[in-house]
Amino acid sequence: MGKSWFEEAQERIQTAGSYLSLEQEVIDVIKEPMRTIEVSIPVKMDNGKTKVFKGFRVQHNNAIGPAKGGIRYYPEETLDDVKALATLMTLKCAVVGVPLGGGKGGIVCNPLEMSQGELEKLSRGYIDKIAPFIGPDKDVPAPDVFTNPQTMAWMMDEYEKIVQKKAPGVITGKPIEVGGSKGRGKATGMGGFFVLKEALKISGRGIQDSVFAVQGFGNVGSSICELLYKNGAKIIAISDIKGGIYNPEGINIEELLKFTKETGFVVDFPGTTPIDNAALLELPVDVLVPAAIQNQITQENADRIKATIILELANGPVTLEADPILTQRNILSVPDILANAGGVAVSYFEMVQNAYGYYWEEDEVNSRLETIMRNAFRAIYDMFKEHPGITMRAAADMVAVKRVAAAIKLRGWV
Ligand code: NAD
Repeated sequence: MGKSWFEEAQERIQTAGSYLSLEQEVIDVIKEPMRTIEVSIPVKMDNGKTKVFKGFRVQHNNAIGPAKGGIRYYPEETLDDVKALATLMTLKCAVVGVPLGGGKGGIVCNPLEMSQGELEKLSRGYIDKIAPFIGPDKDVPAPDVFTNPQTMAWMMDEYEKIVQKKAPGVITGKPIEVGGSKGRGKATGMGGFFVLKEALKISGRGIQDSVFAVQGFGNVGSSICELLYKNGAKIIAISDIKGGIYNPEGINIEELLKFTKETGFVVDFPGTTPIDNAALLELPVDVLVPAAIQNQITQENADRIKATIILELANGPVTLEADPILTQRNILSVPDILANAGGVAVSYFEMVQNAYGYYWEEDEVNSRLETIMRNAFRAIYDMFKEHPGITMRAAADMVAVKRVAAAIKLRGWV
């Protein structure tokens, strides 16, 4: 059996720590989650019968700040995956330099088969169980797969009932009406856009003279397409779970957004021809944007990728084996913990606004986000250039591990 996702994450920390010549004790502290919570949540279902759900919350590391990370509702959720995702959150927060640590939560359930009432009871029940361990200064959850701003509103409300005071900063990704931040909904795409601008500068080109292919047209994929299109980019192919569309002259994103609002999927968009997901990845474009799911660029197809930049907006779209092949071929793959960190950066802004009780306009959110993403890209690119032969992912891991290690040592944990 191959390595689990969590074991892979631990291996990345080991590699980064060794490159940085860190003491093994420091590496060992960063490799292990600080606290793993497993709960059972009884929910009285609509049919009157009680069903017991299993839930997890993992606080991976809080040396830099409170644990931070989303909550997934997923039928195949495992503790190992939650531990892996919590570990990656520690790295992601450190990469963008926000004062937060890493955490992640999950509940084993299939929300597509549950009523809104059942989901509300499950969300409140989960908070009842983990309330002693979370809080604006301890651990701050957020939305992830199959959870959304409504889920966050229920969870915040339950937490506030327990602590008997307003505490909007206990959770981010809330609806704006109850303390959410402007710009949070599109923050991941926006952050990716800012990073891309920096990456393109290296090759001496701009958005408007580059050609793109985008995999995935959900929250993240559609927002990056919208931004690229508004800035004059030519996007020649887009796909989703049902298939892809291709037009070598460029796809009109405004029209496509109207079309997908009605049909739900990109296939059959007028003026395009069909293309499958595998062929989309291998198109002769300047920039490839995987914004759907993990394990898309692998050892098997890495040799055939023609893009010069890959912007990893999805989590884990490029496998660890594919990474060195791309690097050897001079393809700049901007790793997920950098490319999609805009979401957590704006979550941090949401916490700041909640603490102040003062809310920013969207322009202010975006301009602060641009500064954070630009600085993060530069720190990682500098690390990449200083260590010939490493991948951009290893460079990002090194920047992150170095920052977490410094906090651990200053605190005297080692
Ligand atoms: P989403 O559910 O809104 O959209 C996912 C898109 O991918 C949909 O268009 C779907 O049809 C498509 N898709 C699913 N399976 C596919 C397949 N096999 N082939 C091609 N397309 C497929 O999800 P999202 O929020 O846009 O997230 C997309 C990715 O970005 C995920 O990997 C997620 O973990 C990552 N991410 C999201 C955020 C965020 O703020 N939403 C933040 C960081 C990372």
